[in-house]
Amino acid sequence: YNHSMQRTEKMKIISDLAASVAHEVRNPLQVTRGFLQLLAARTDEKSQAYFELAVNELDRASDIITDFLTFAKPEIERITLLDLSQEIKKIEAMMLPLAAMHGGVLVCNIQDELYIHGNSSKLKQALINIIKNGIEAIGNDGIIQIEATATTGKVQIRIADNGDGMSEEEVAKLGEPFFSTKTKGTGLGLMVTFRIIEVMKGTISIKSTKGKGTEFIIRFPLIVKEKRLPGESDV
Ligand code: ADP
Ligand code: MG
Repeated sequence: YNHSMQRTEKMKIISDLAASVAHEVRNPLQVTRGFLQLLAARTDEKSQAYFELAVNELDRASDIITDFLTFAKPEIERITLLDLSQEIKKIEAMMLPLAAMHGGVLVCNIQDELYIHGNSSKLKQALINIIKNGIEAIGNDGIIQIEATATTGKVQIRIADNGDGMSEEEVAKLGEPFFSTKTKGTGLGLMVTFRIIEVMKGTISIKSTKGKGTEFIIRFPLIVKEKRLPGESDV
């Protein structure tokens, strides 16, 4: 036993362990989810509601594990050129049902030809955490706006909701681990989002008014894709 083990070494062991446990737990959750959906298709309408609840809870567990995993291992392995309009289209499709469940709508306005460097699944995780908070903050007639435009050398993503809003003190606490005002909250979502945006060399700013709503502005360096001659390949 070596007492002089460095703190950073210990941290690395703990984060490796957390990452592998999280990874191993996520797989059986996914398998269980698949079987529940199979069973749901064979059962009567009344029981289907229970299956839906079970699947939702599994998804919630899976999301929490994903956030913990990013907390333990925030570094991004694979950086590629991302087409923002395509990325946000996928996110929109994933979030539409949740927005509808909360009585709200998503309105997307994404400029074409916006390219950034980053990792597709991490970007998704970062933006989904913000959009989910927006959805959880709205009431009936809730609107979540997602816009992306190019400004001088940057891509700007604006995610705004007309929900509960926050006080100045609450805004100041955003991104702190375990800060949550929700009974079922983890207070990990925005911490992970901030970390991912930082690793992708972006910035984030937040404006919020209690009772009115919240606006997140995220900026990433804009990548100018070289014009190719017809017939030139993509790789
Ligand atoms: P969680 O969602 O698990 O509580 P987050 O890190 O995602 O953790 O968010 C932390 C807290 O920030 C939330 O509990 C909520 O109080 C506040 N918050 C974040 N986004 C919004 C928003 N769009 N509107 C109102 N409050 C928000
Ligand atoms: Mg959240």
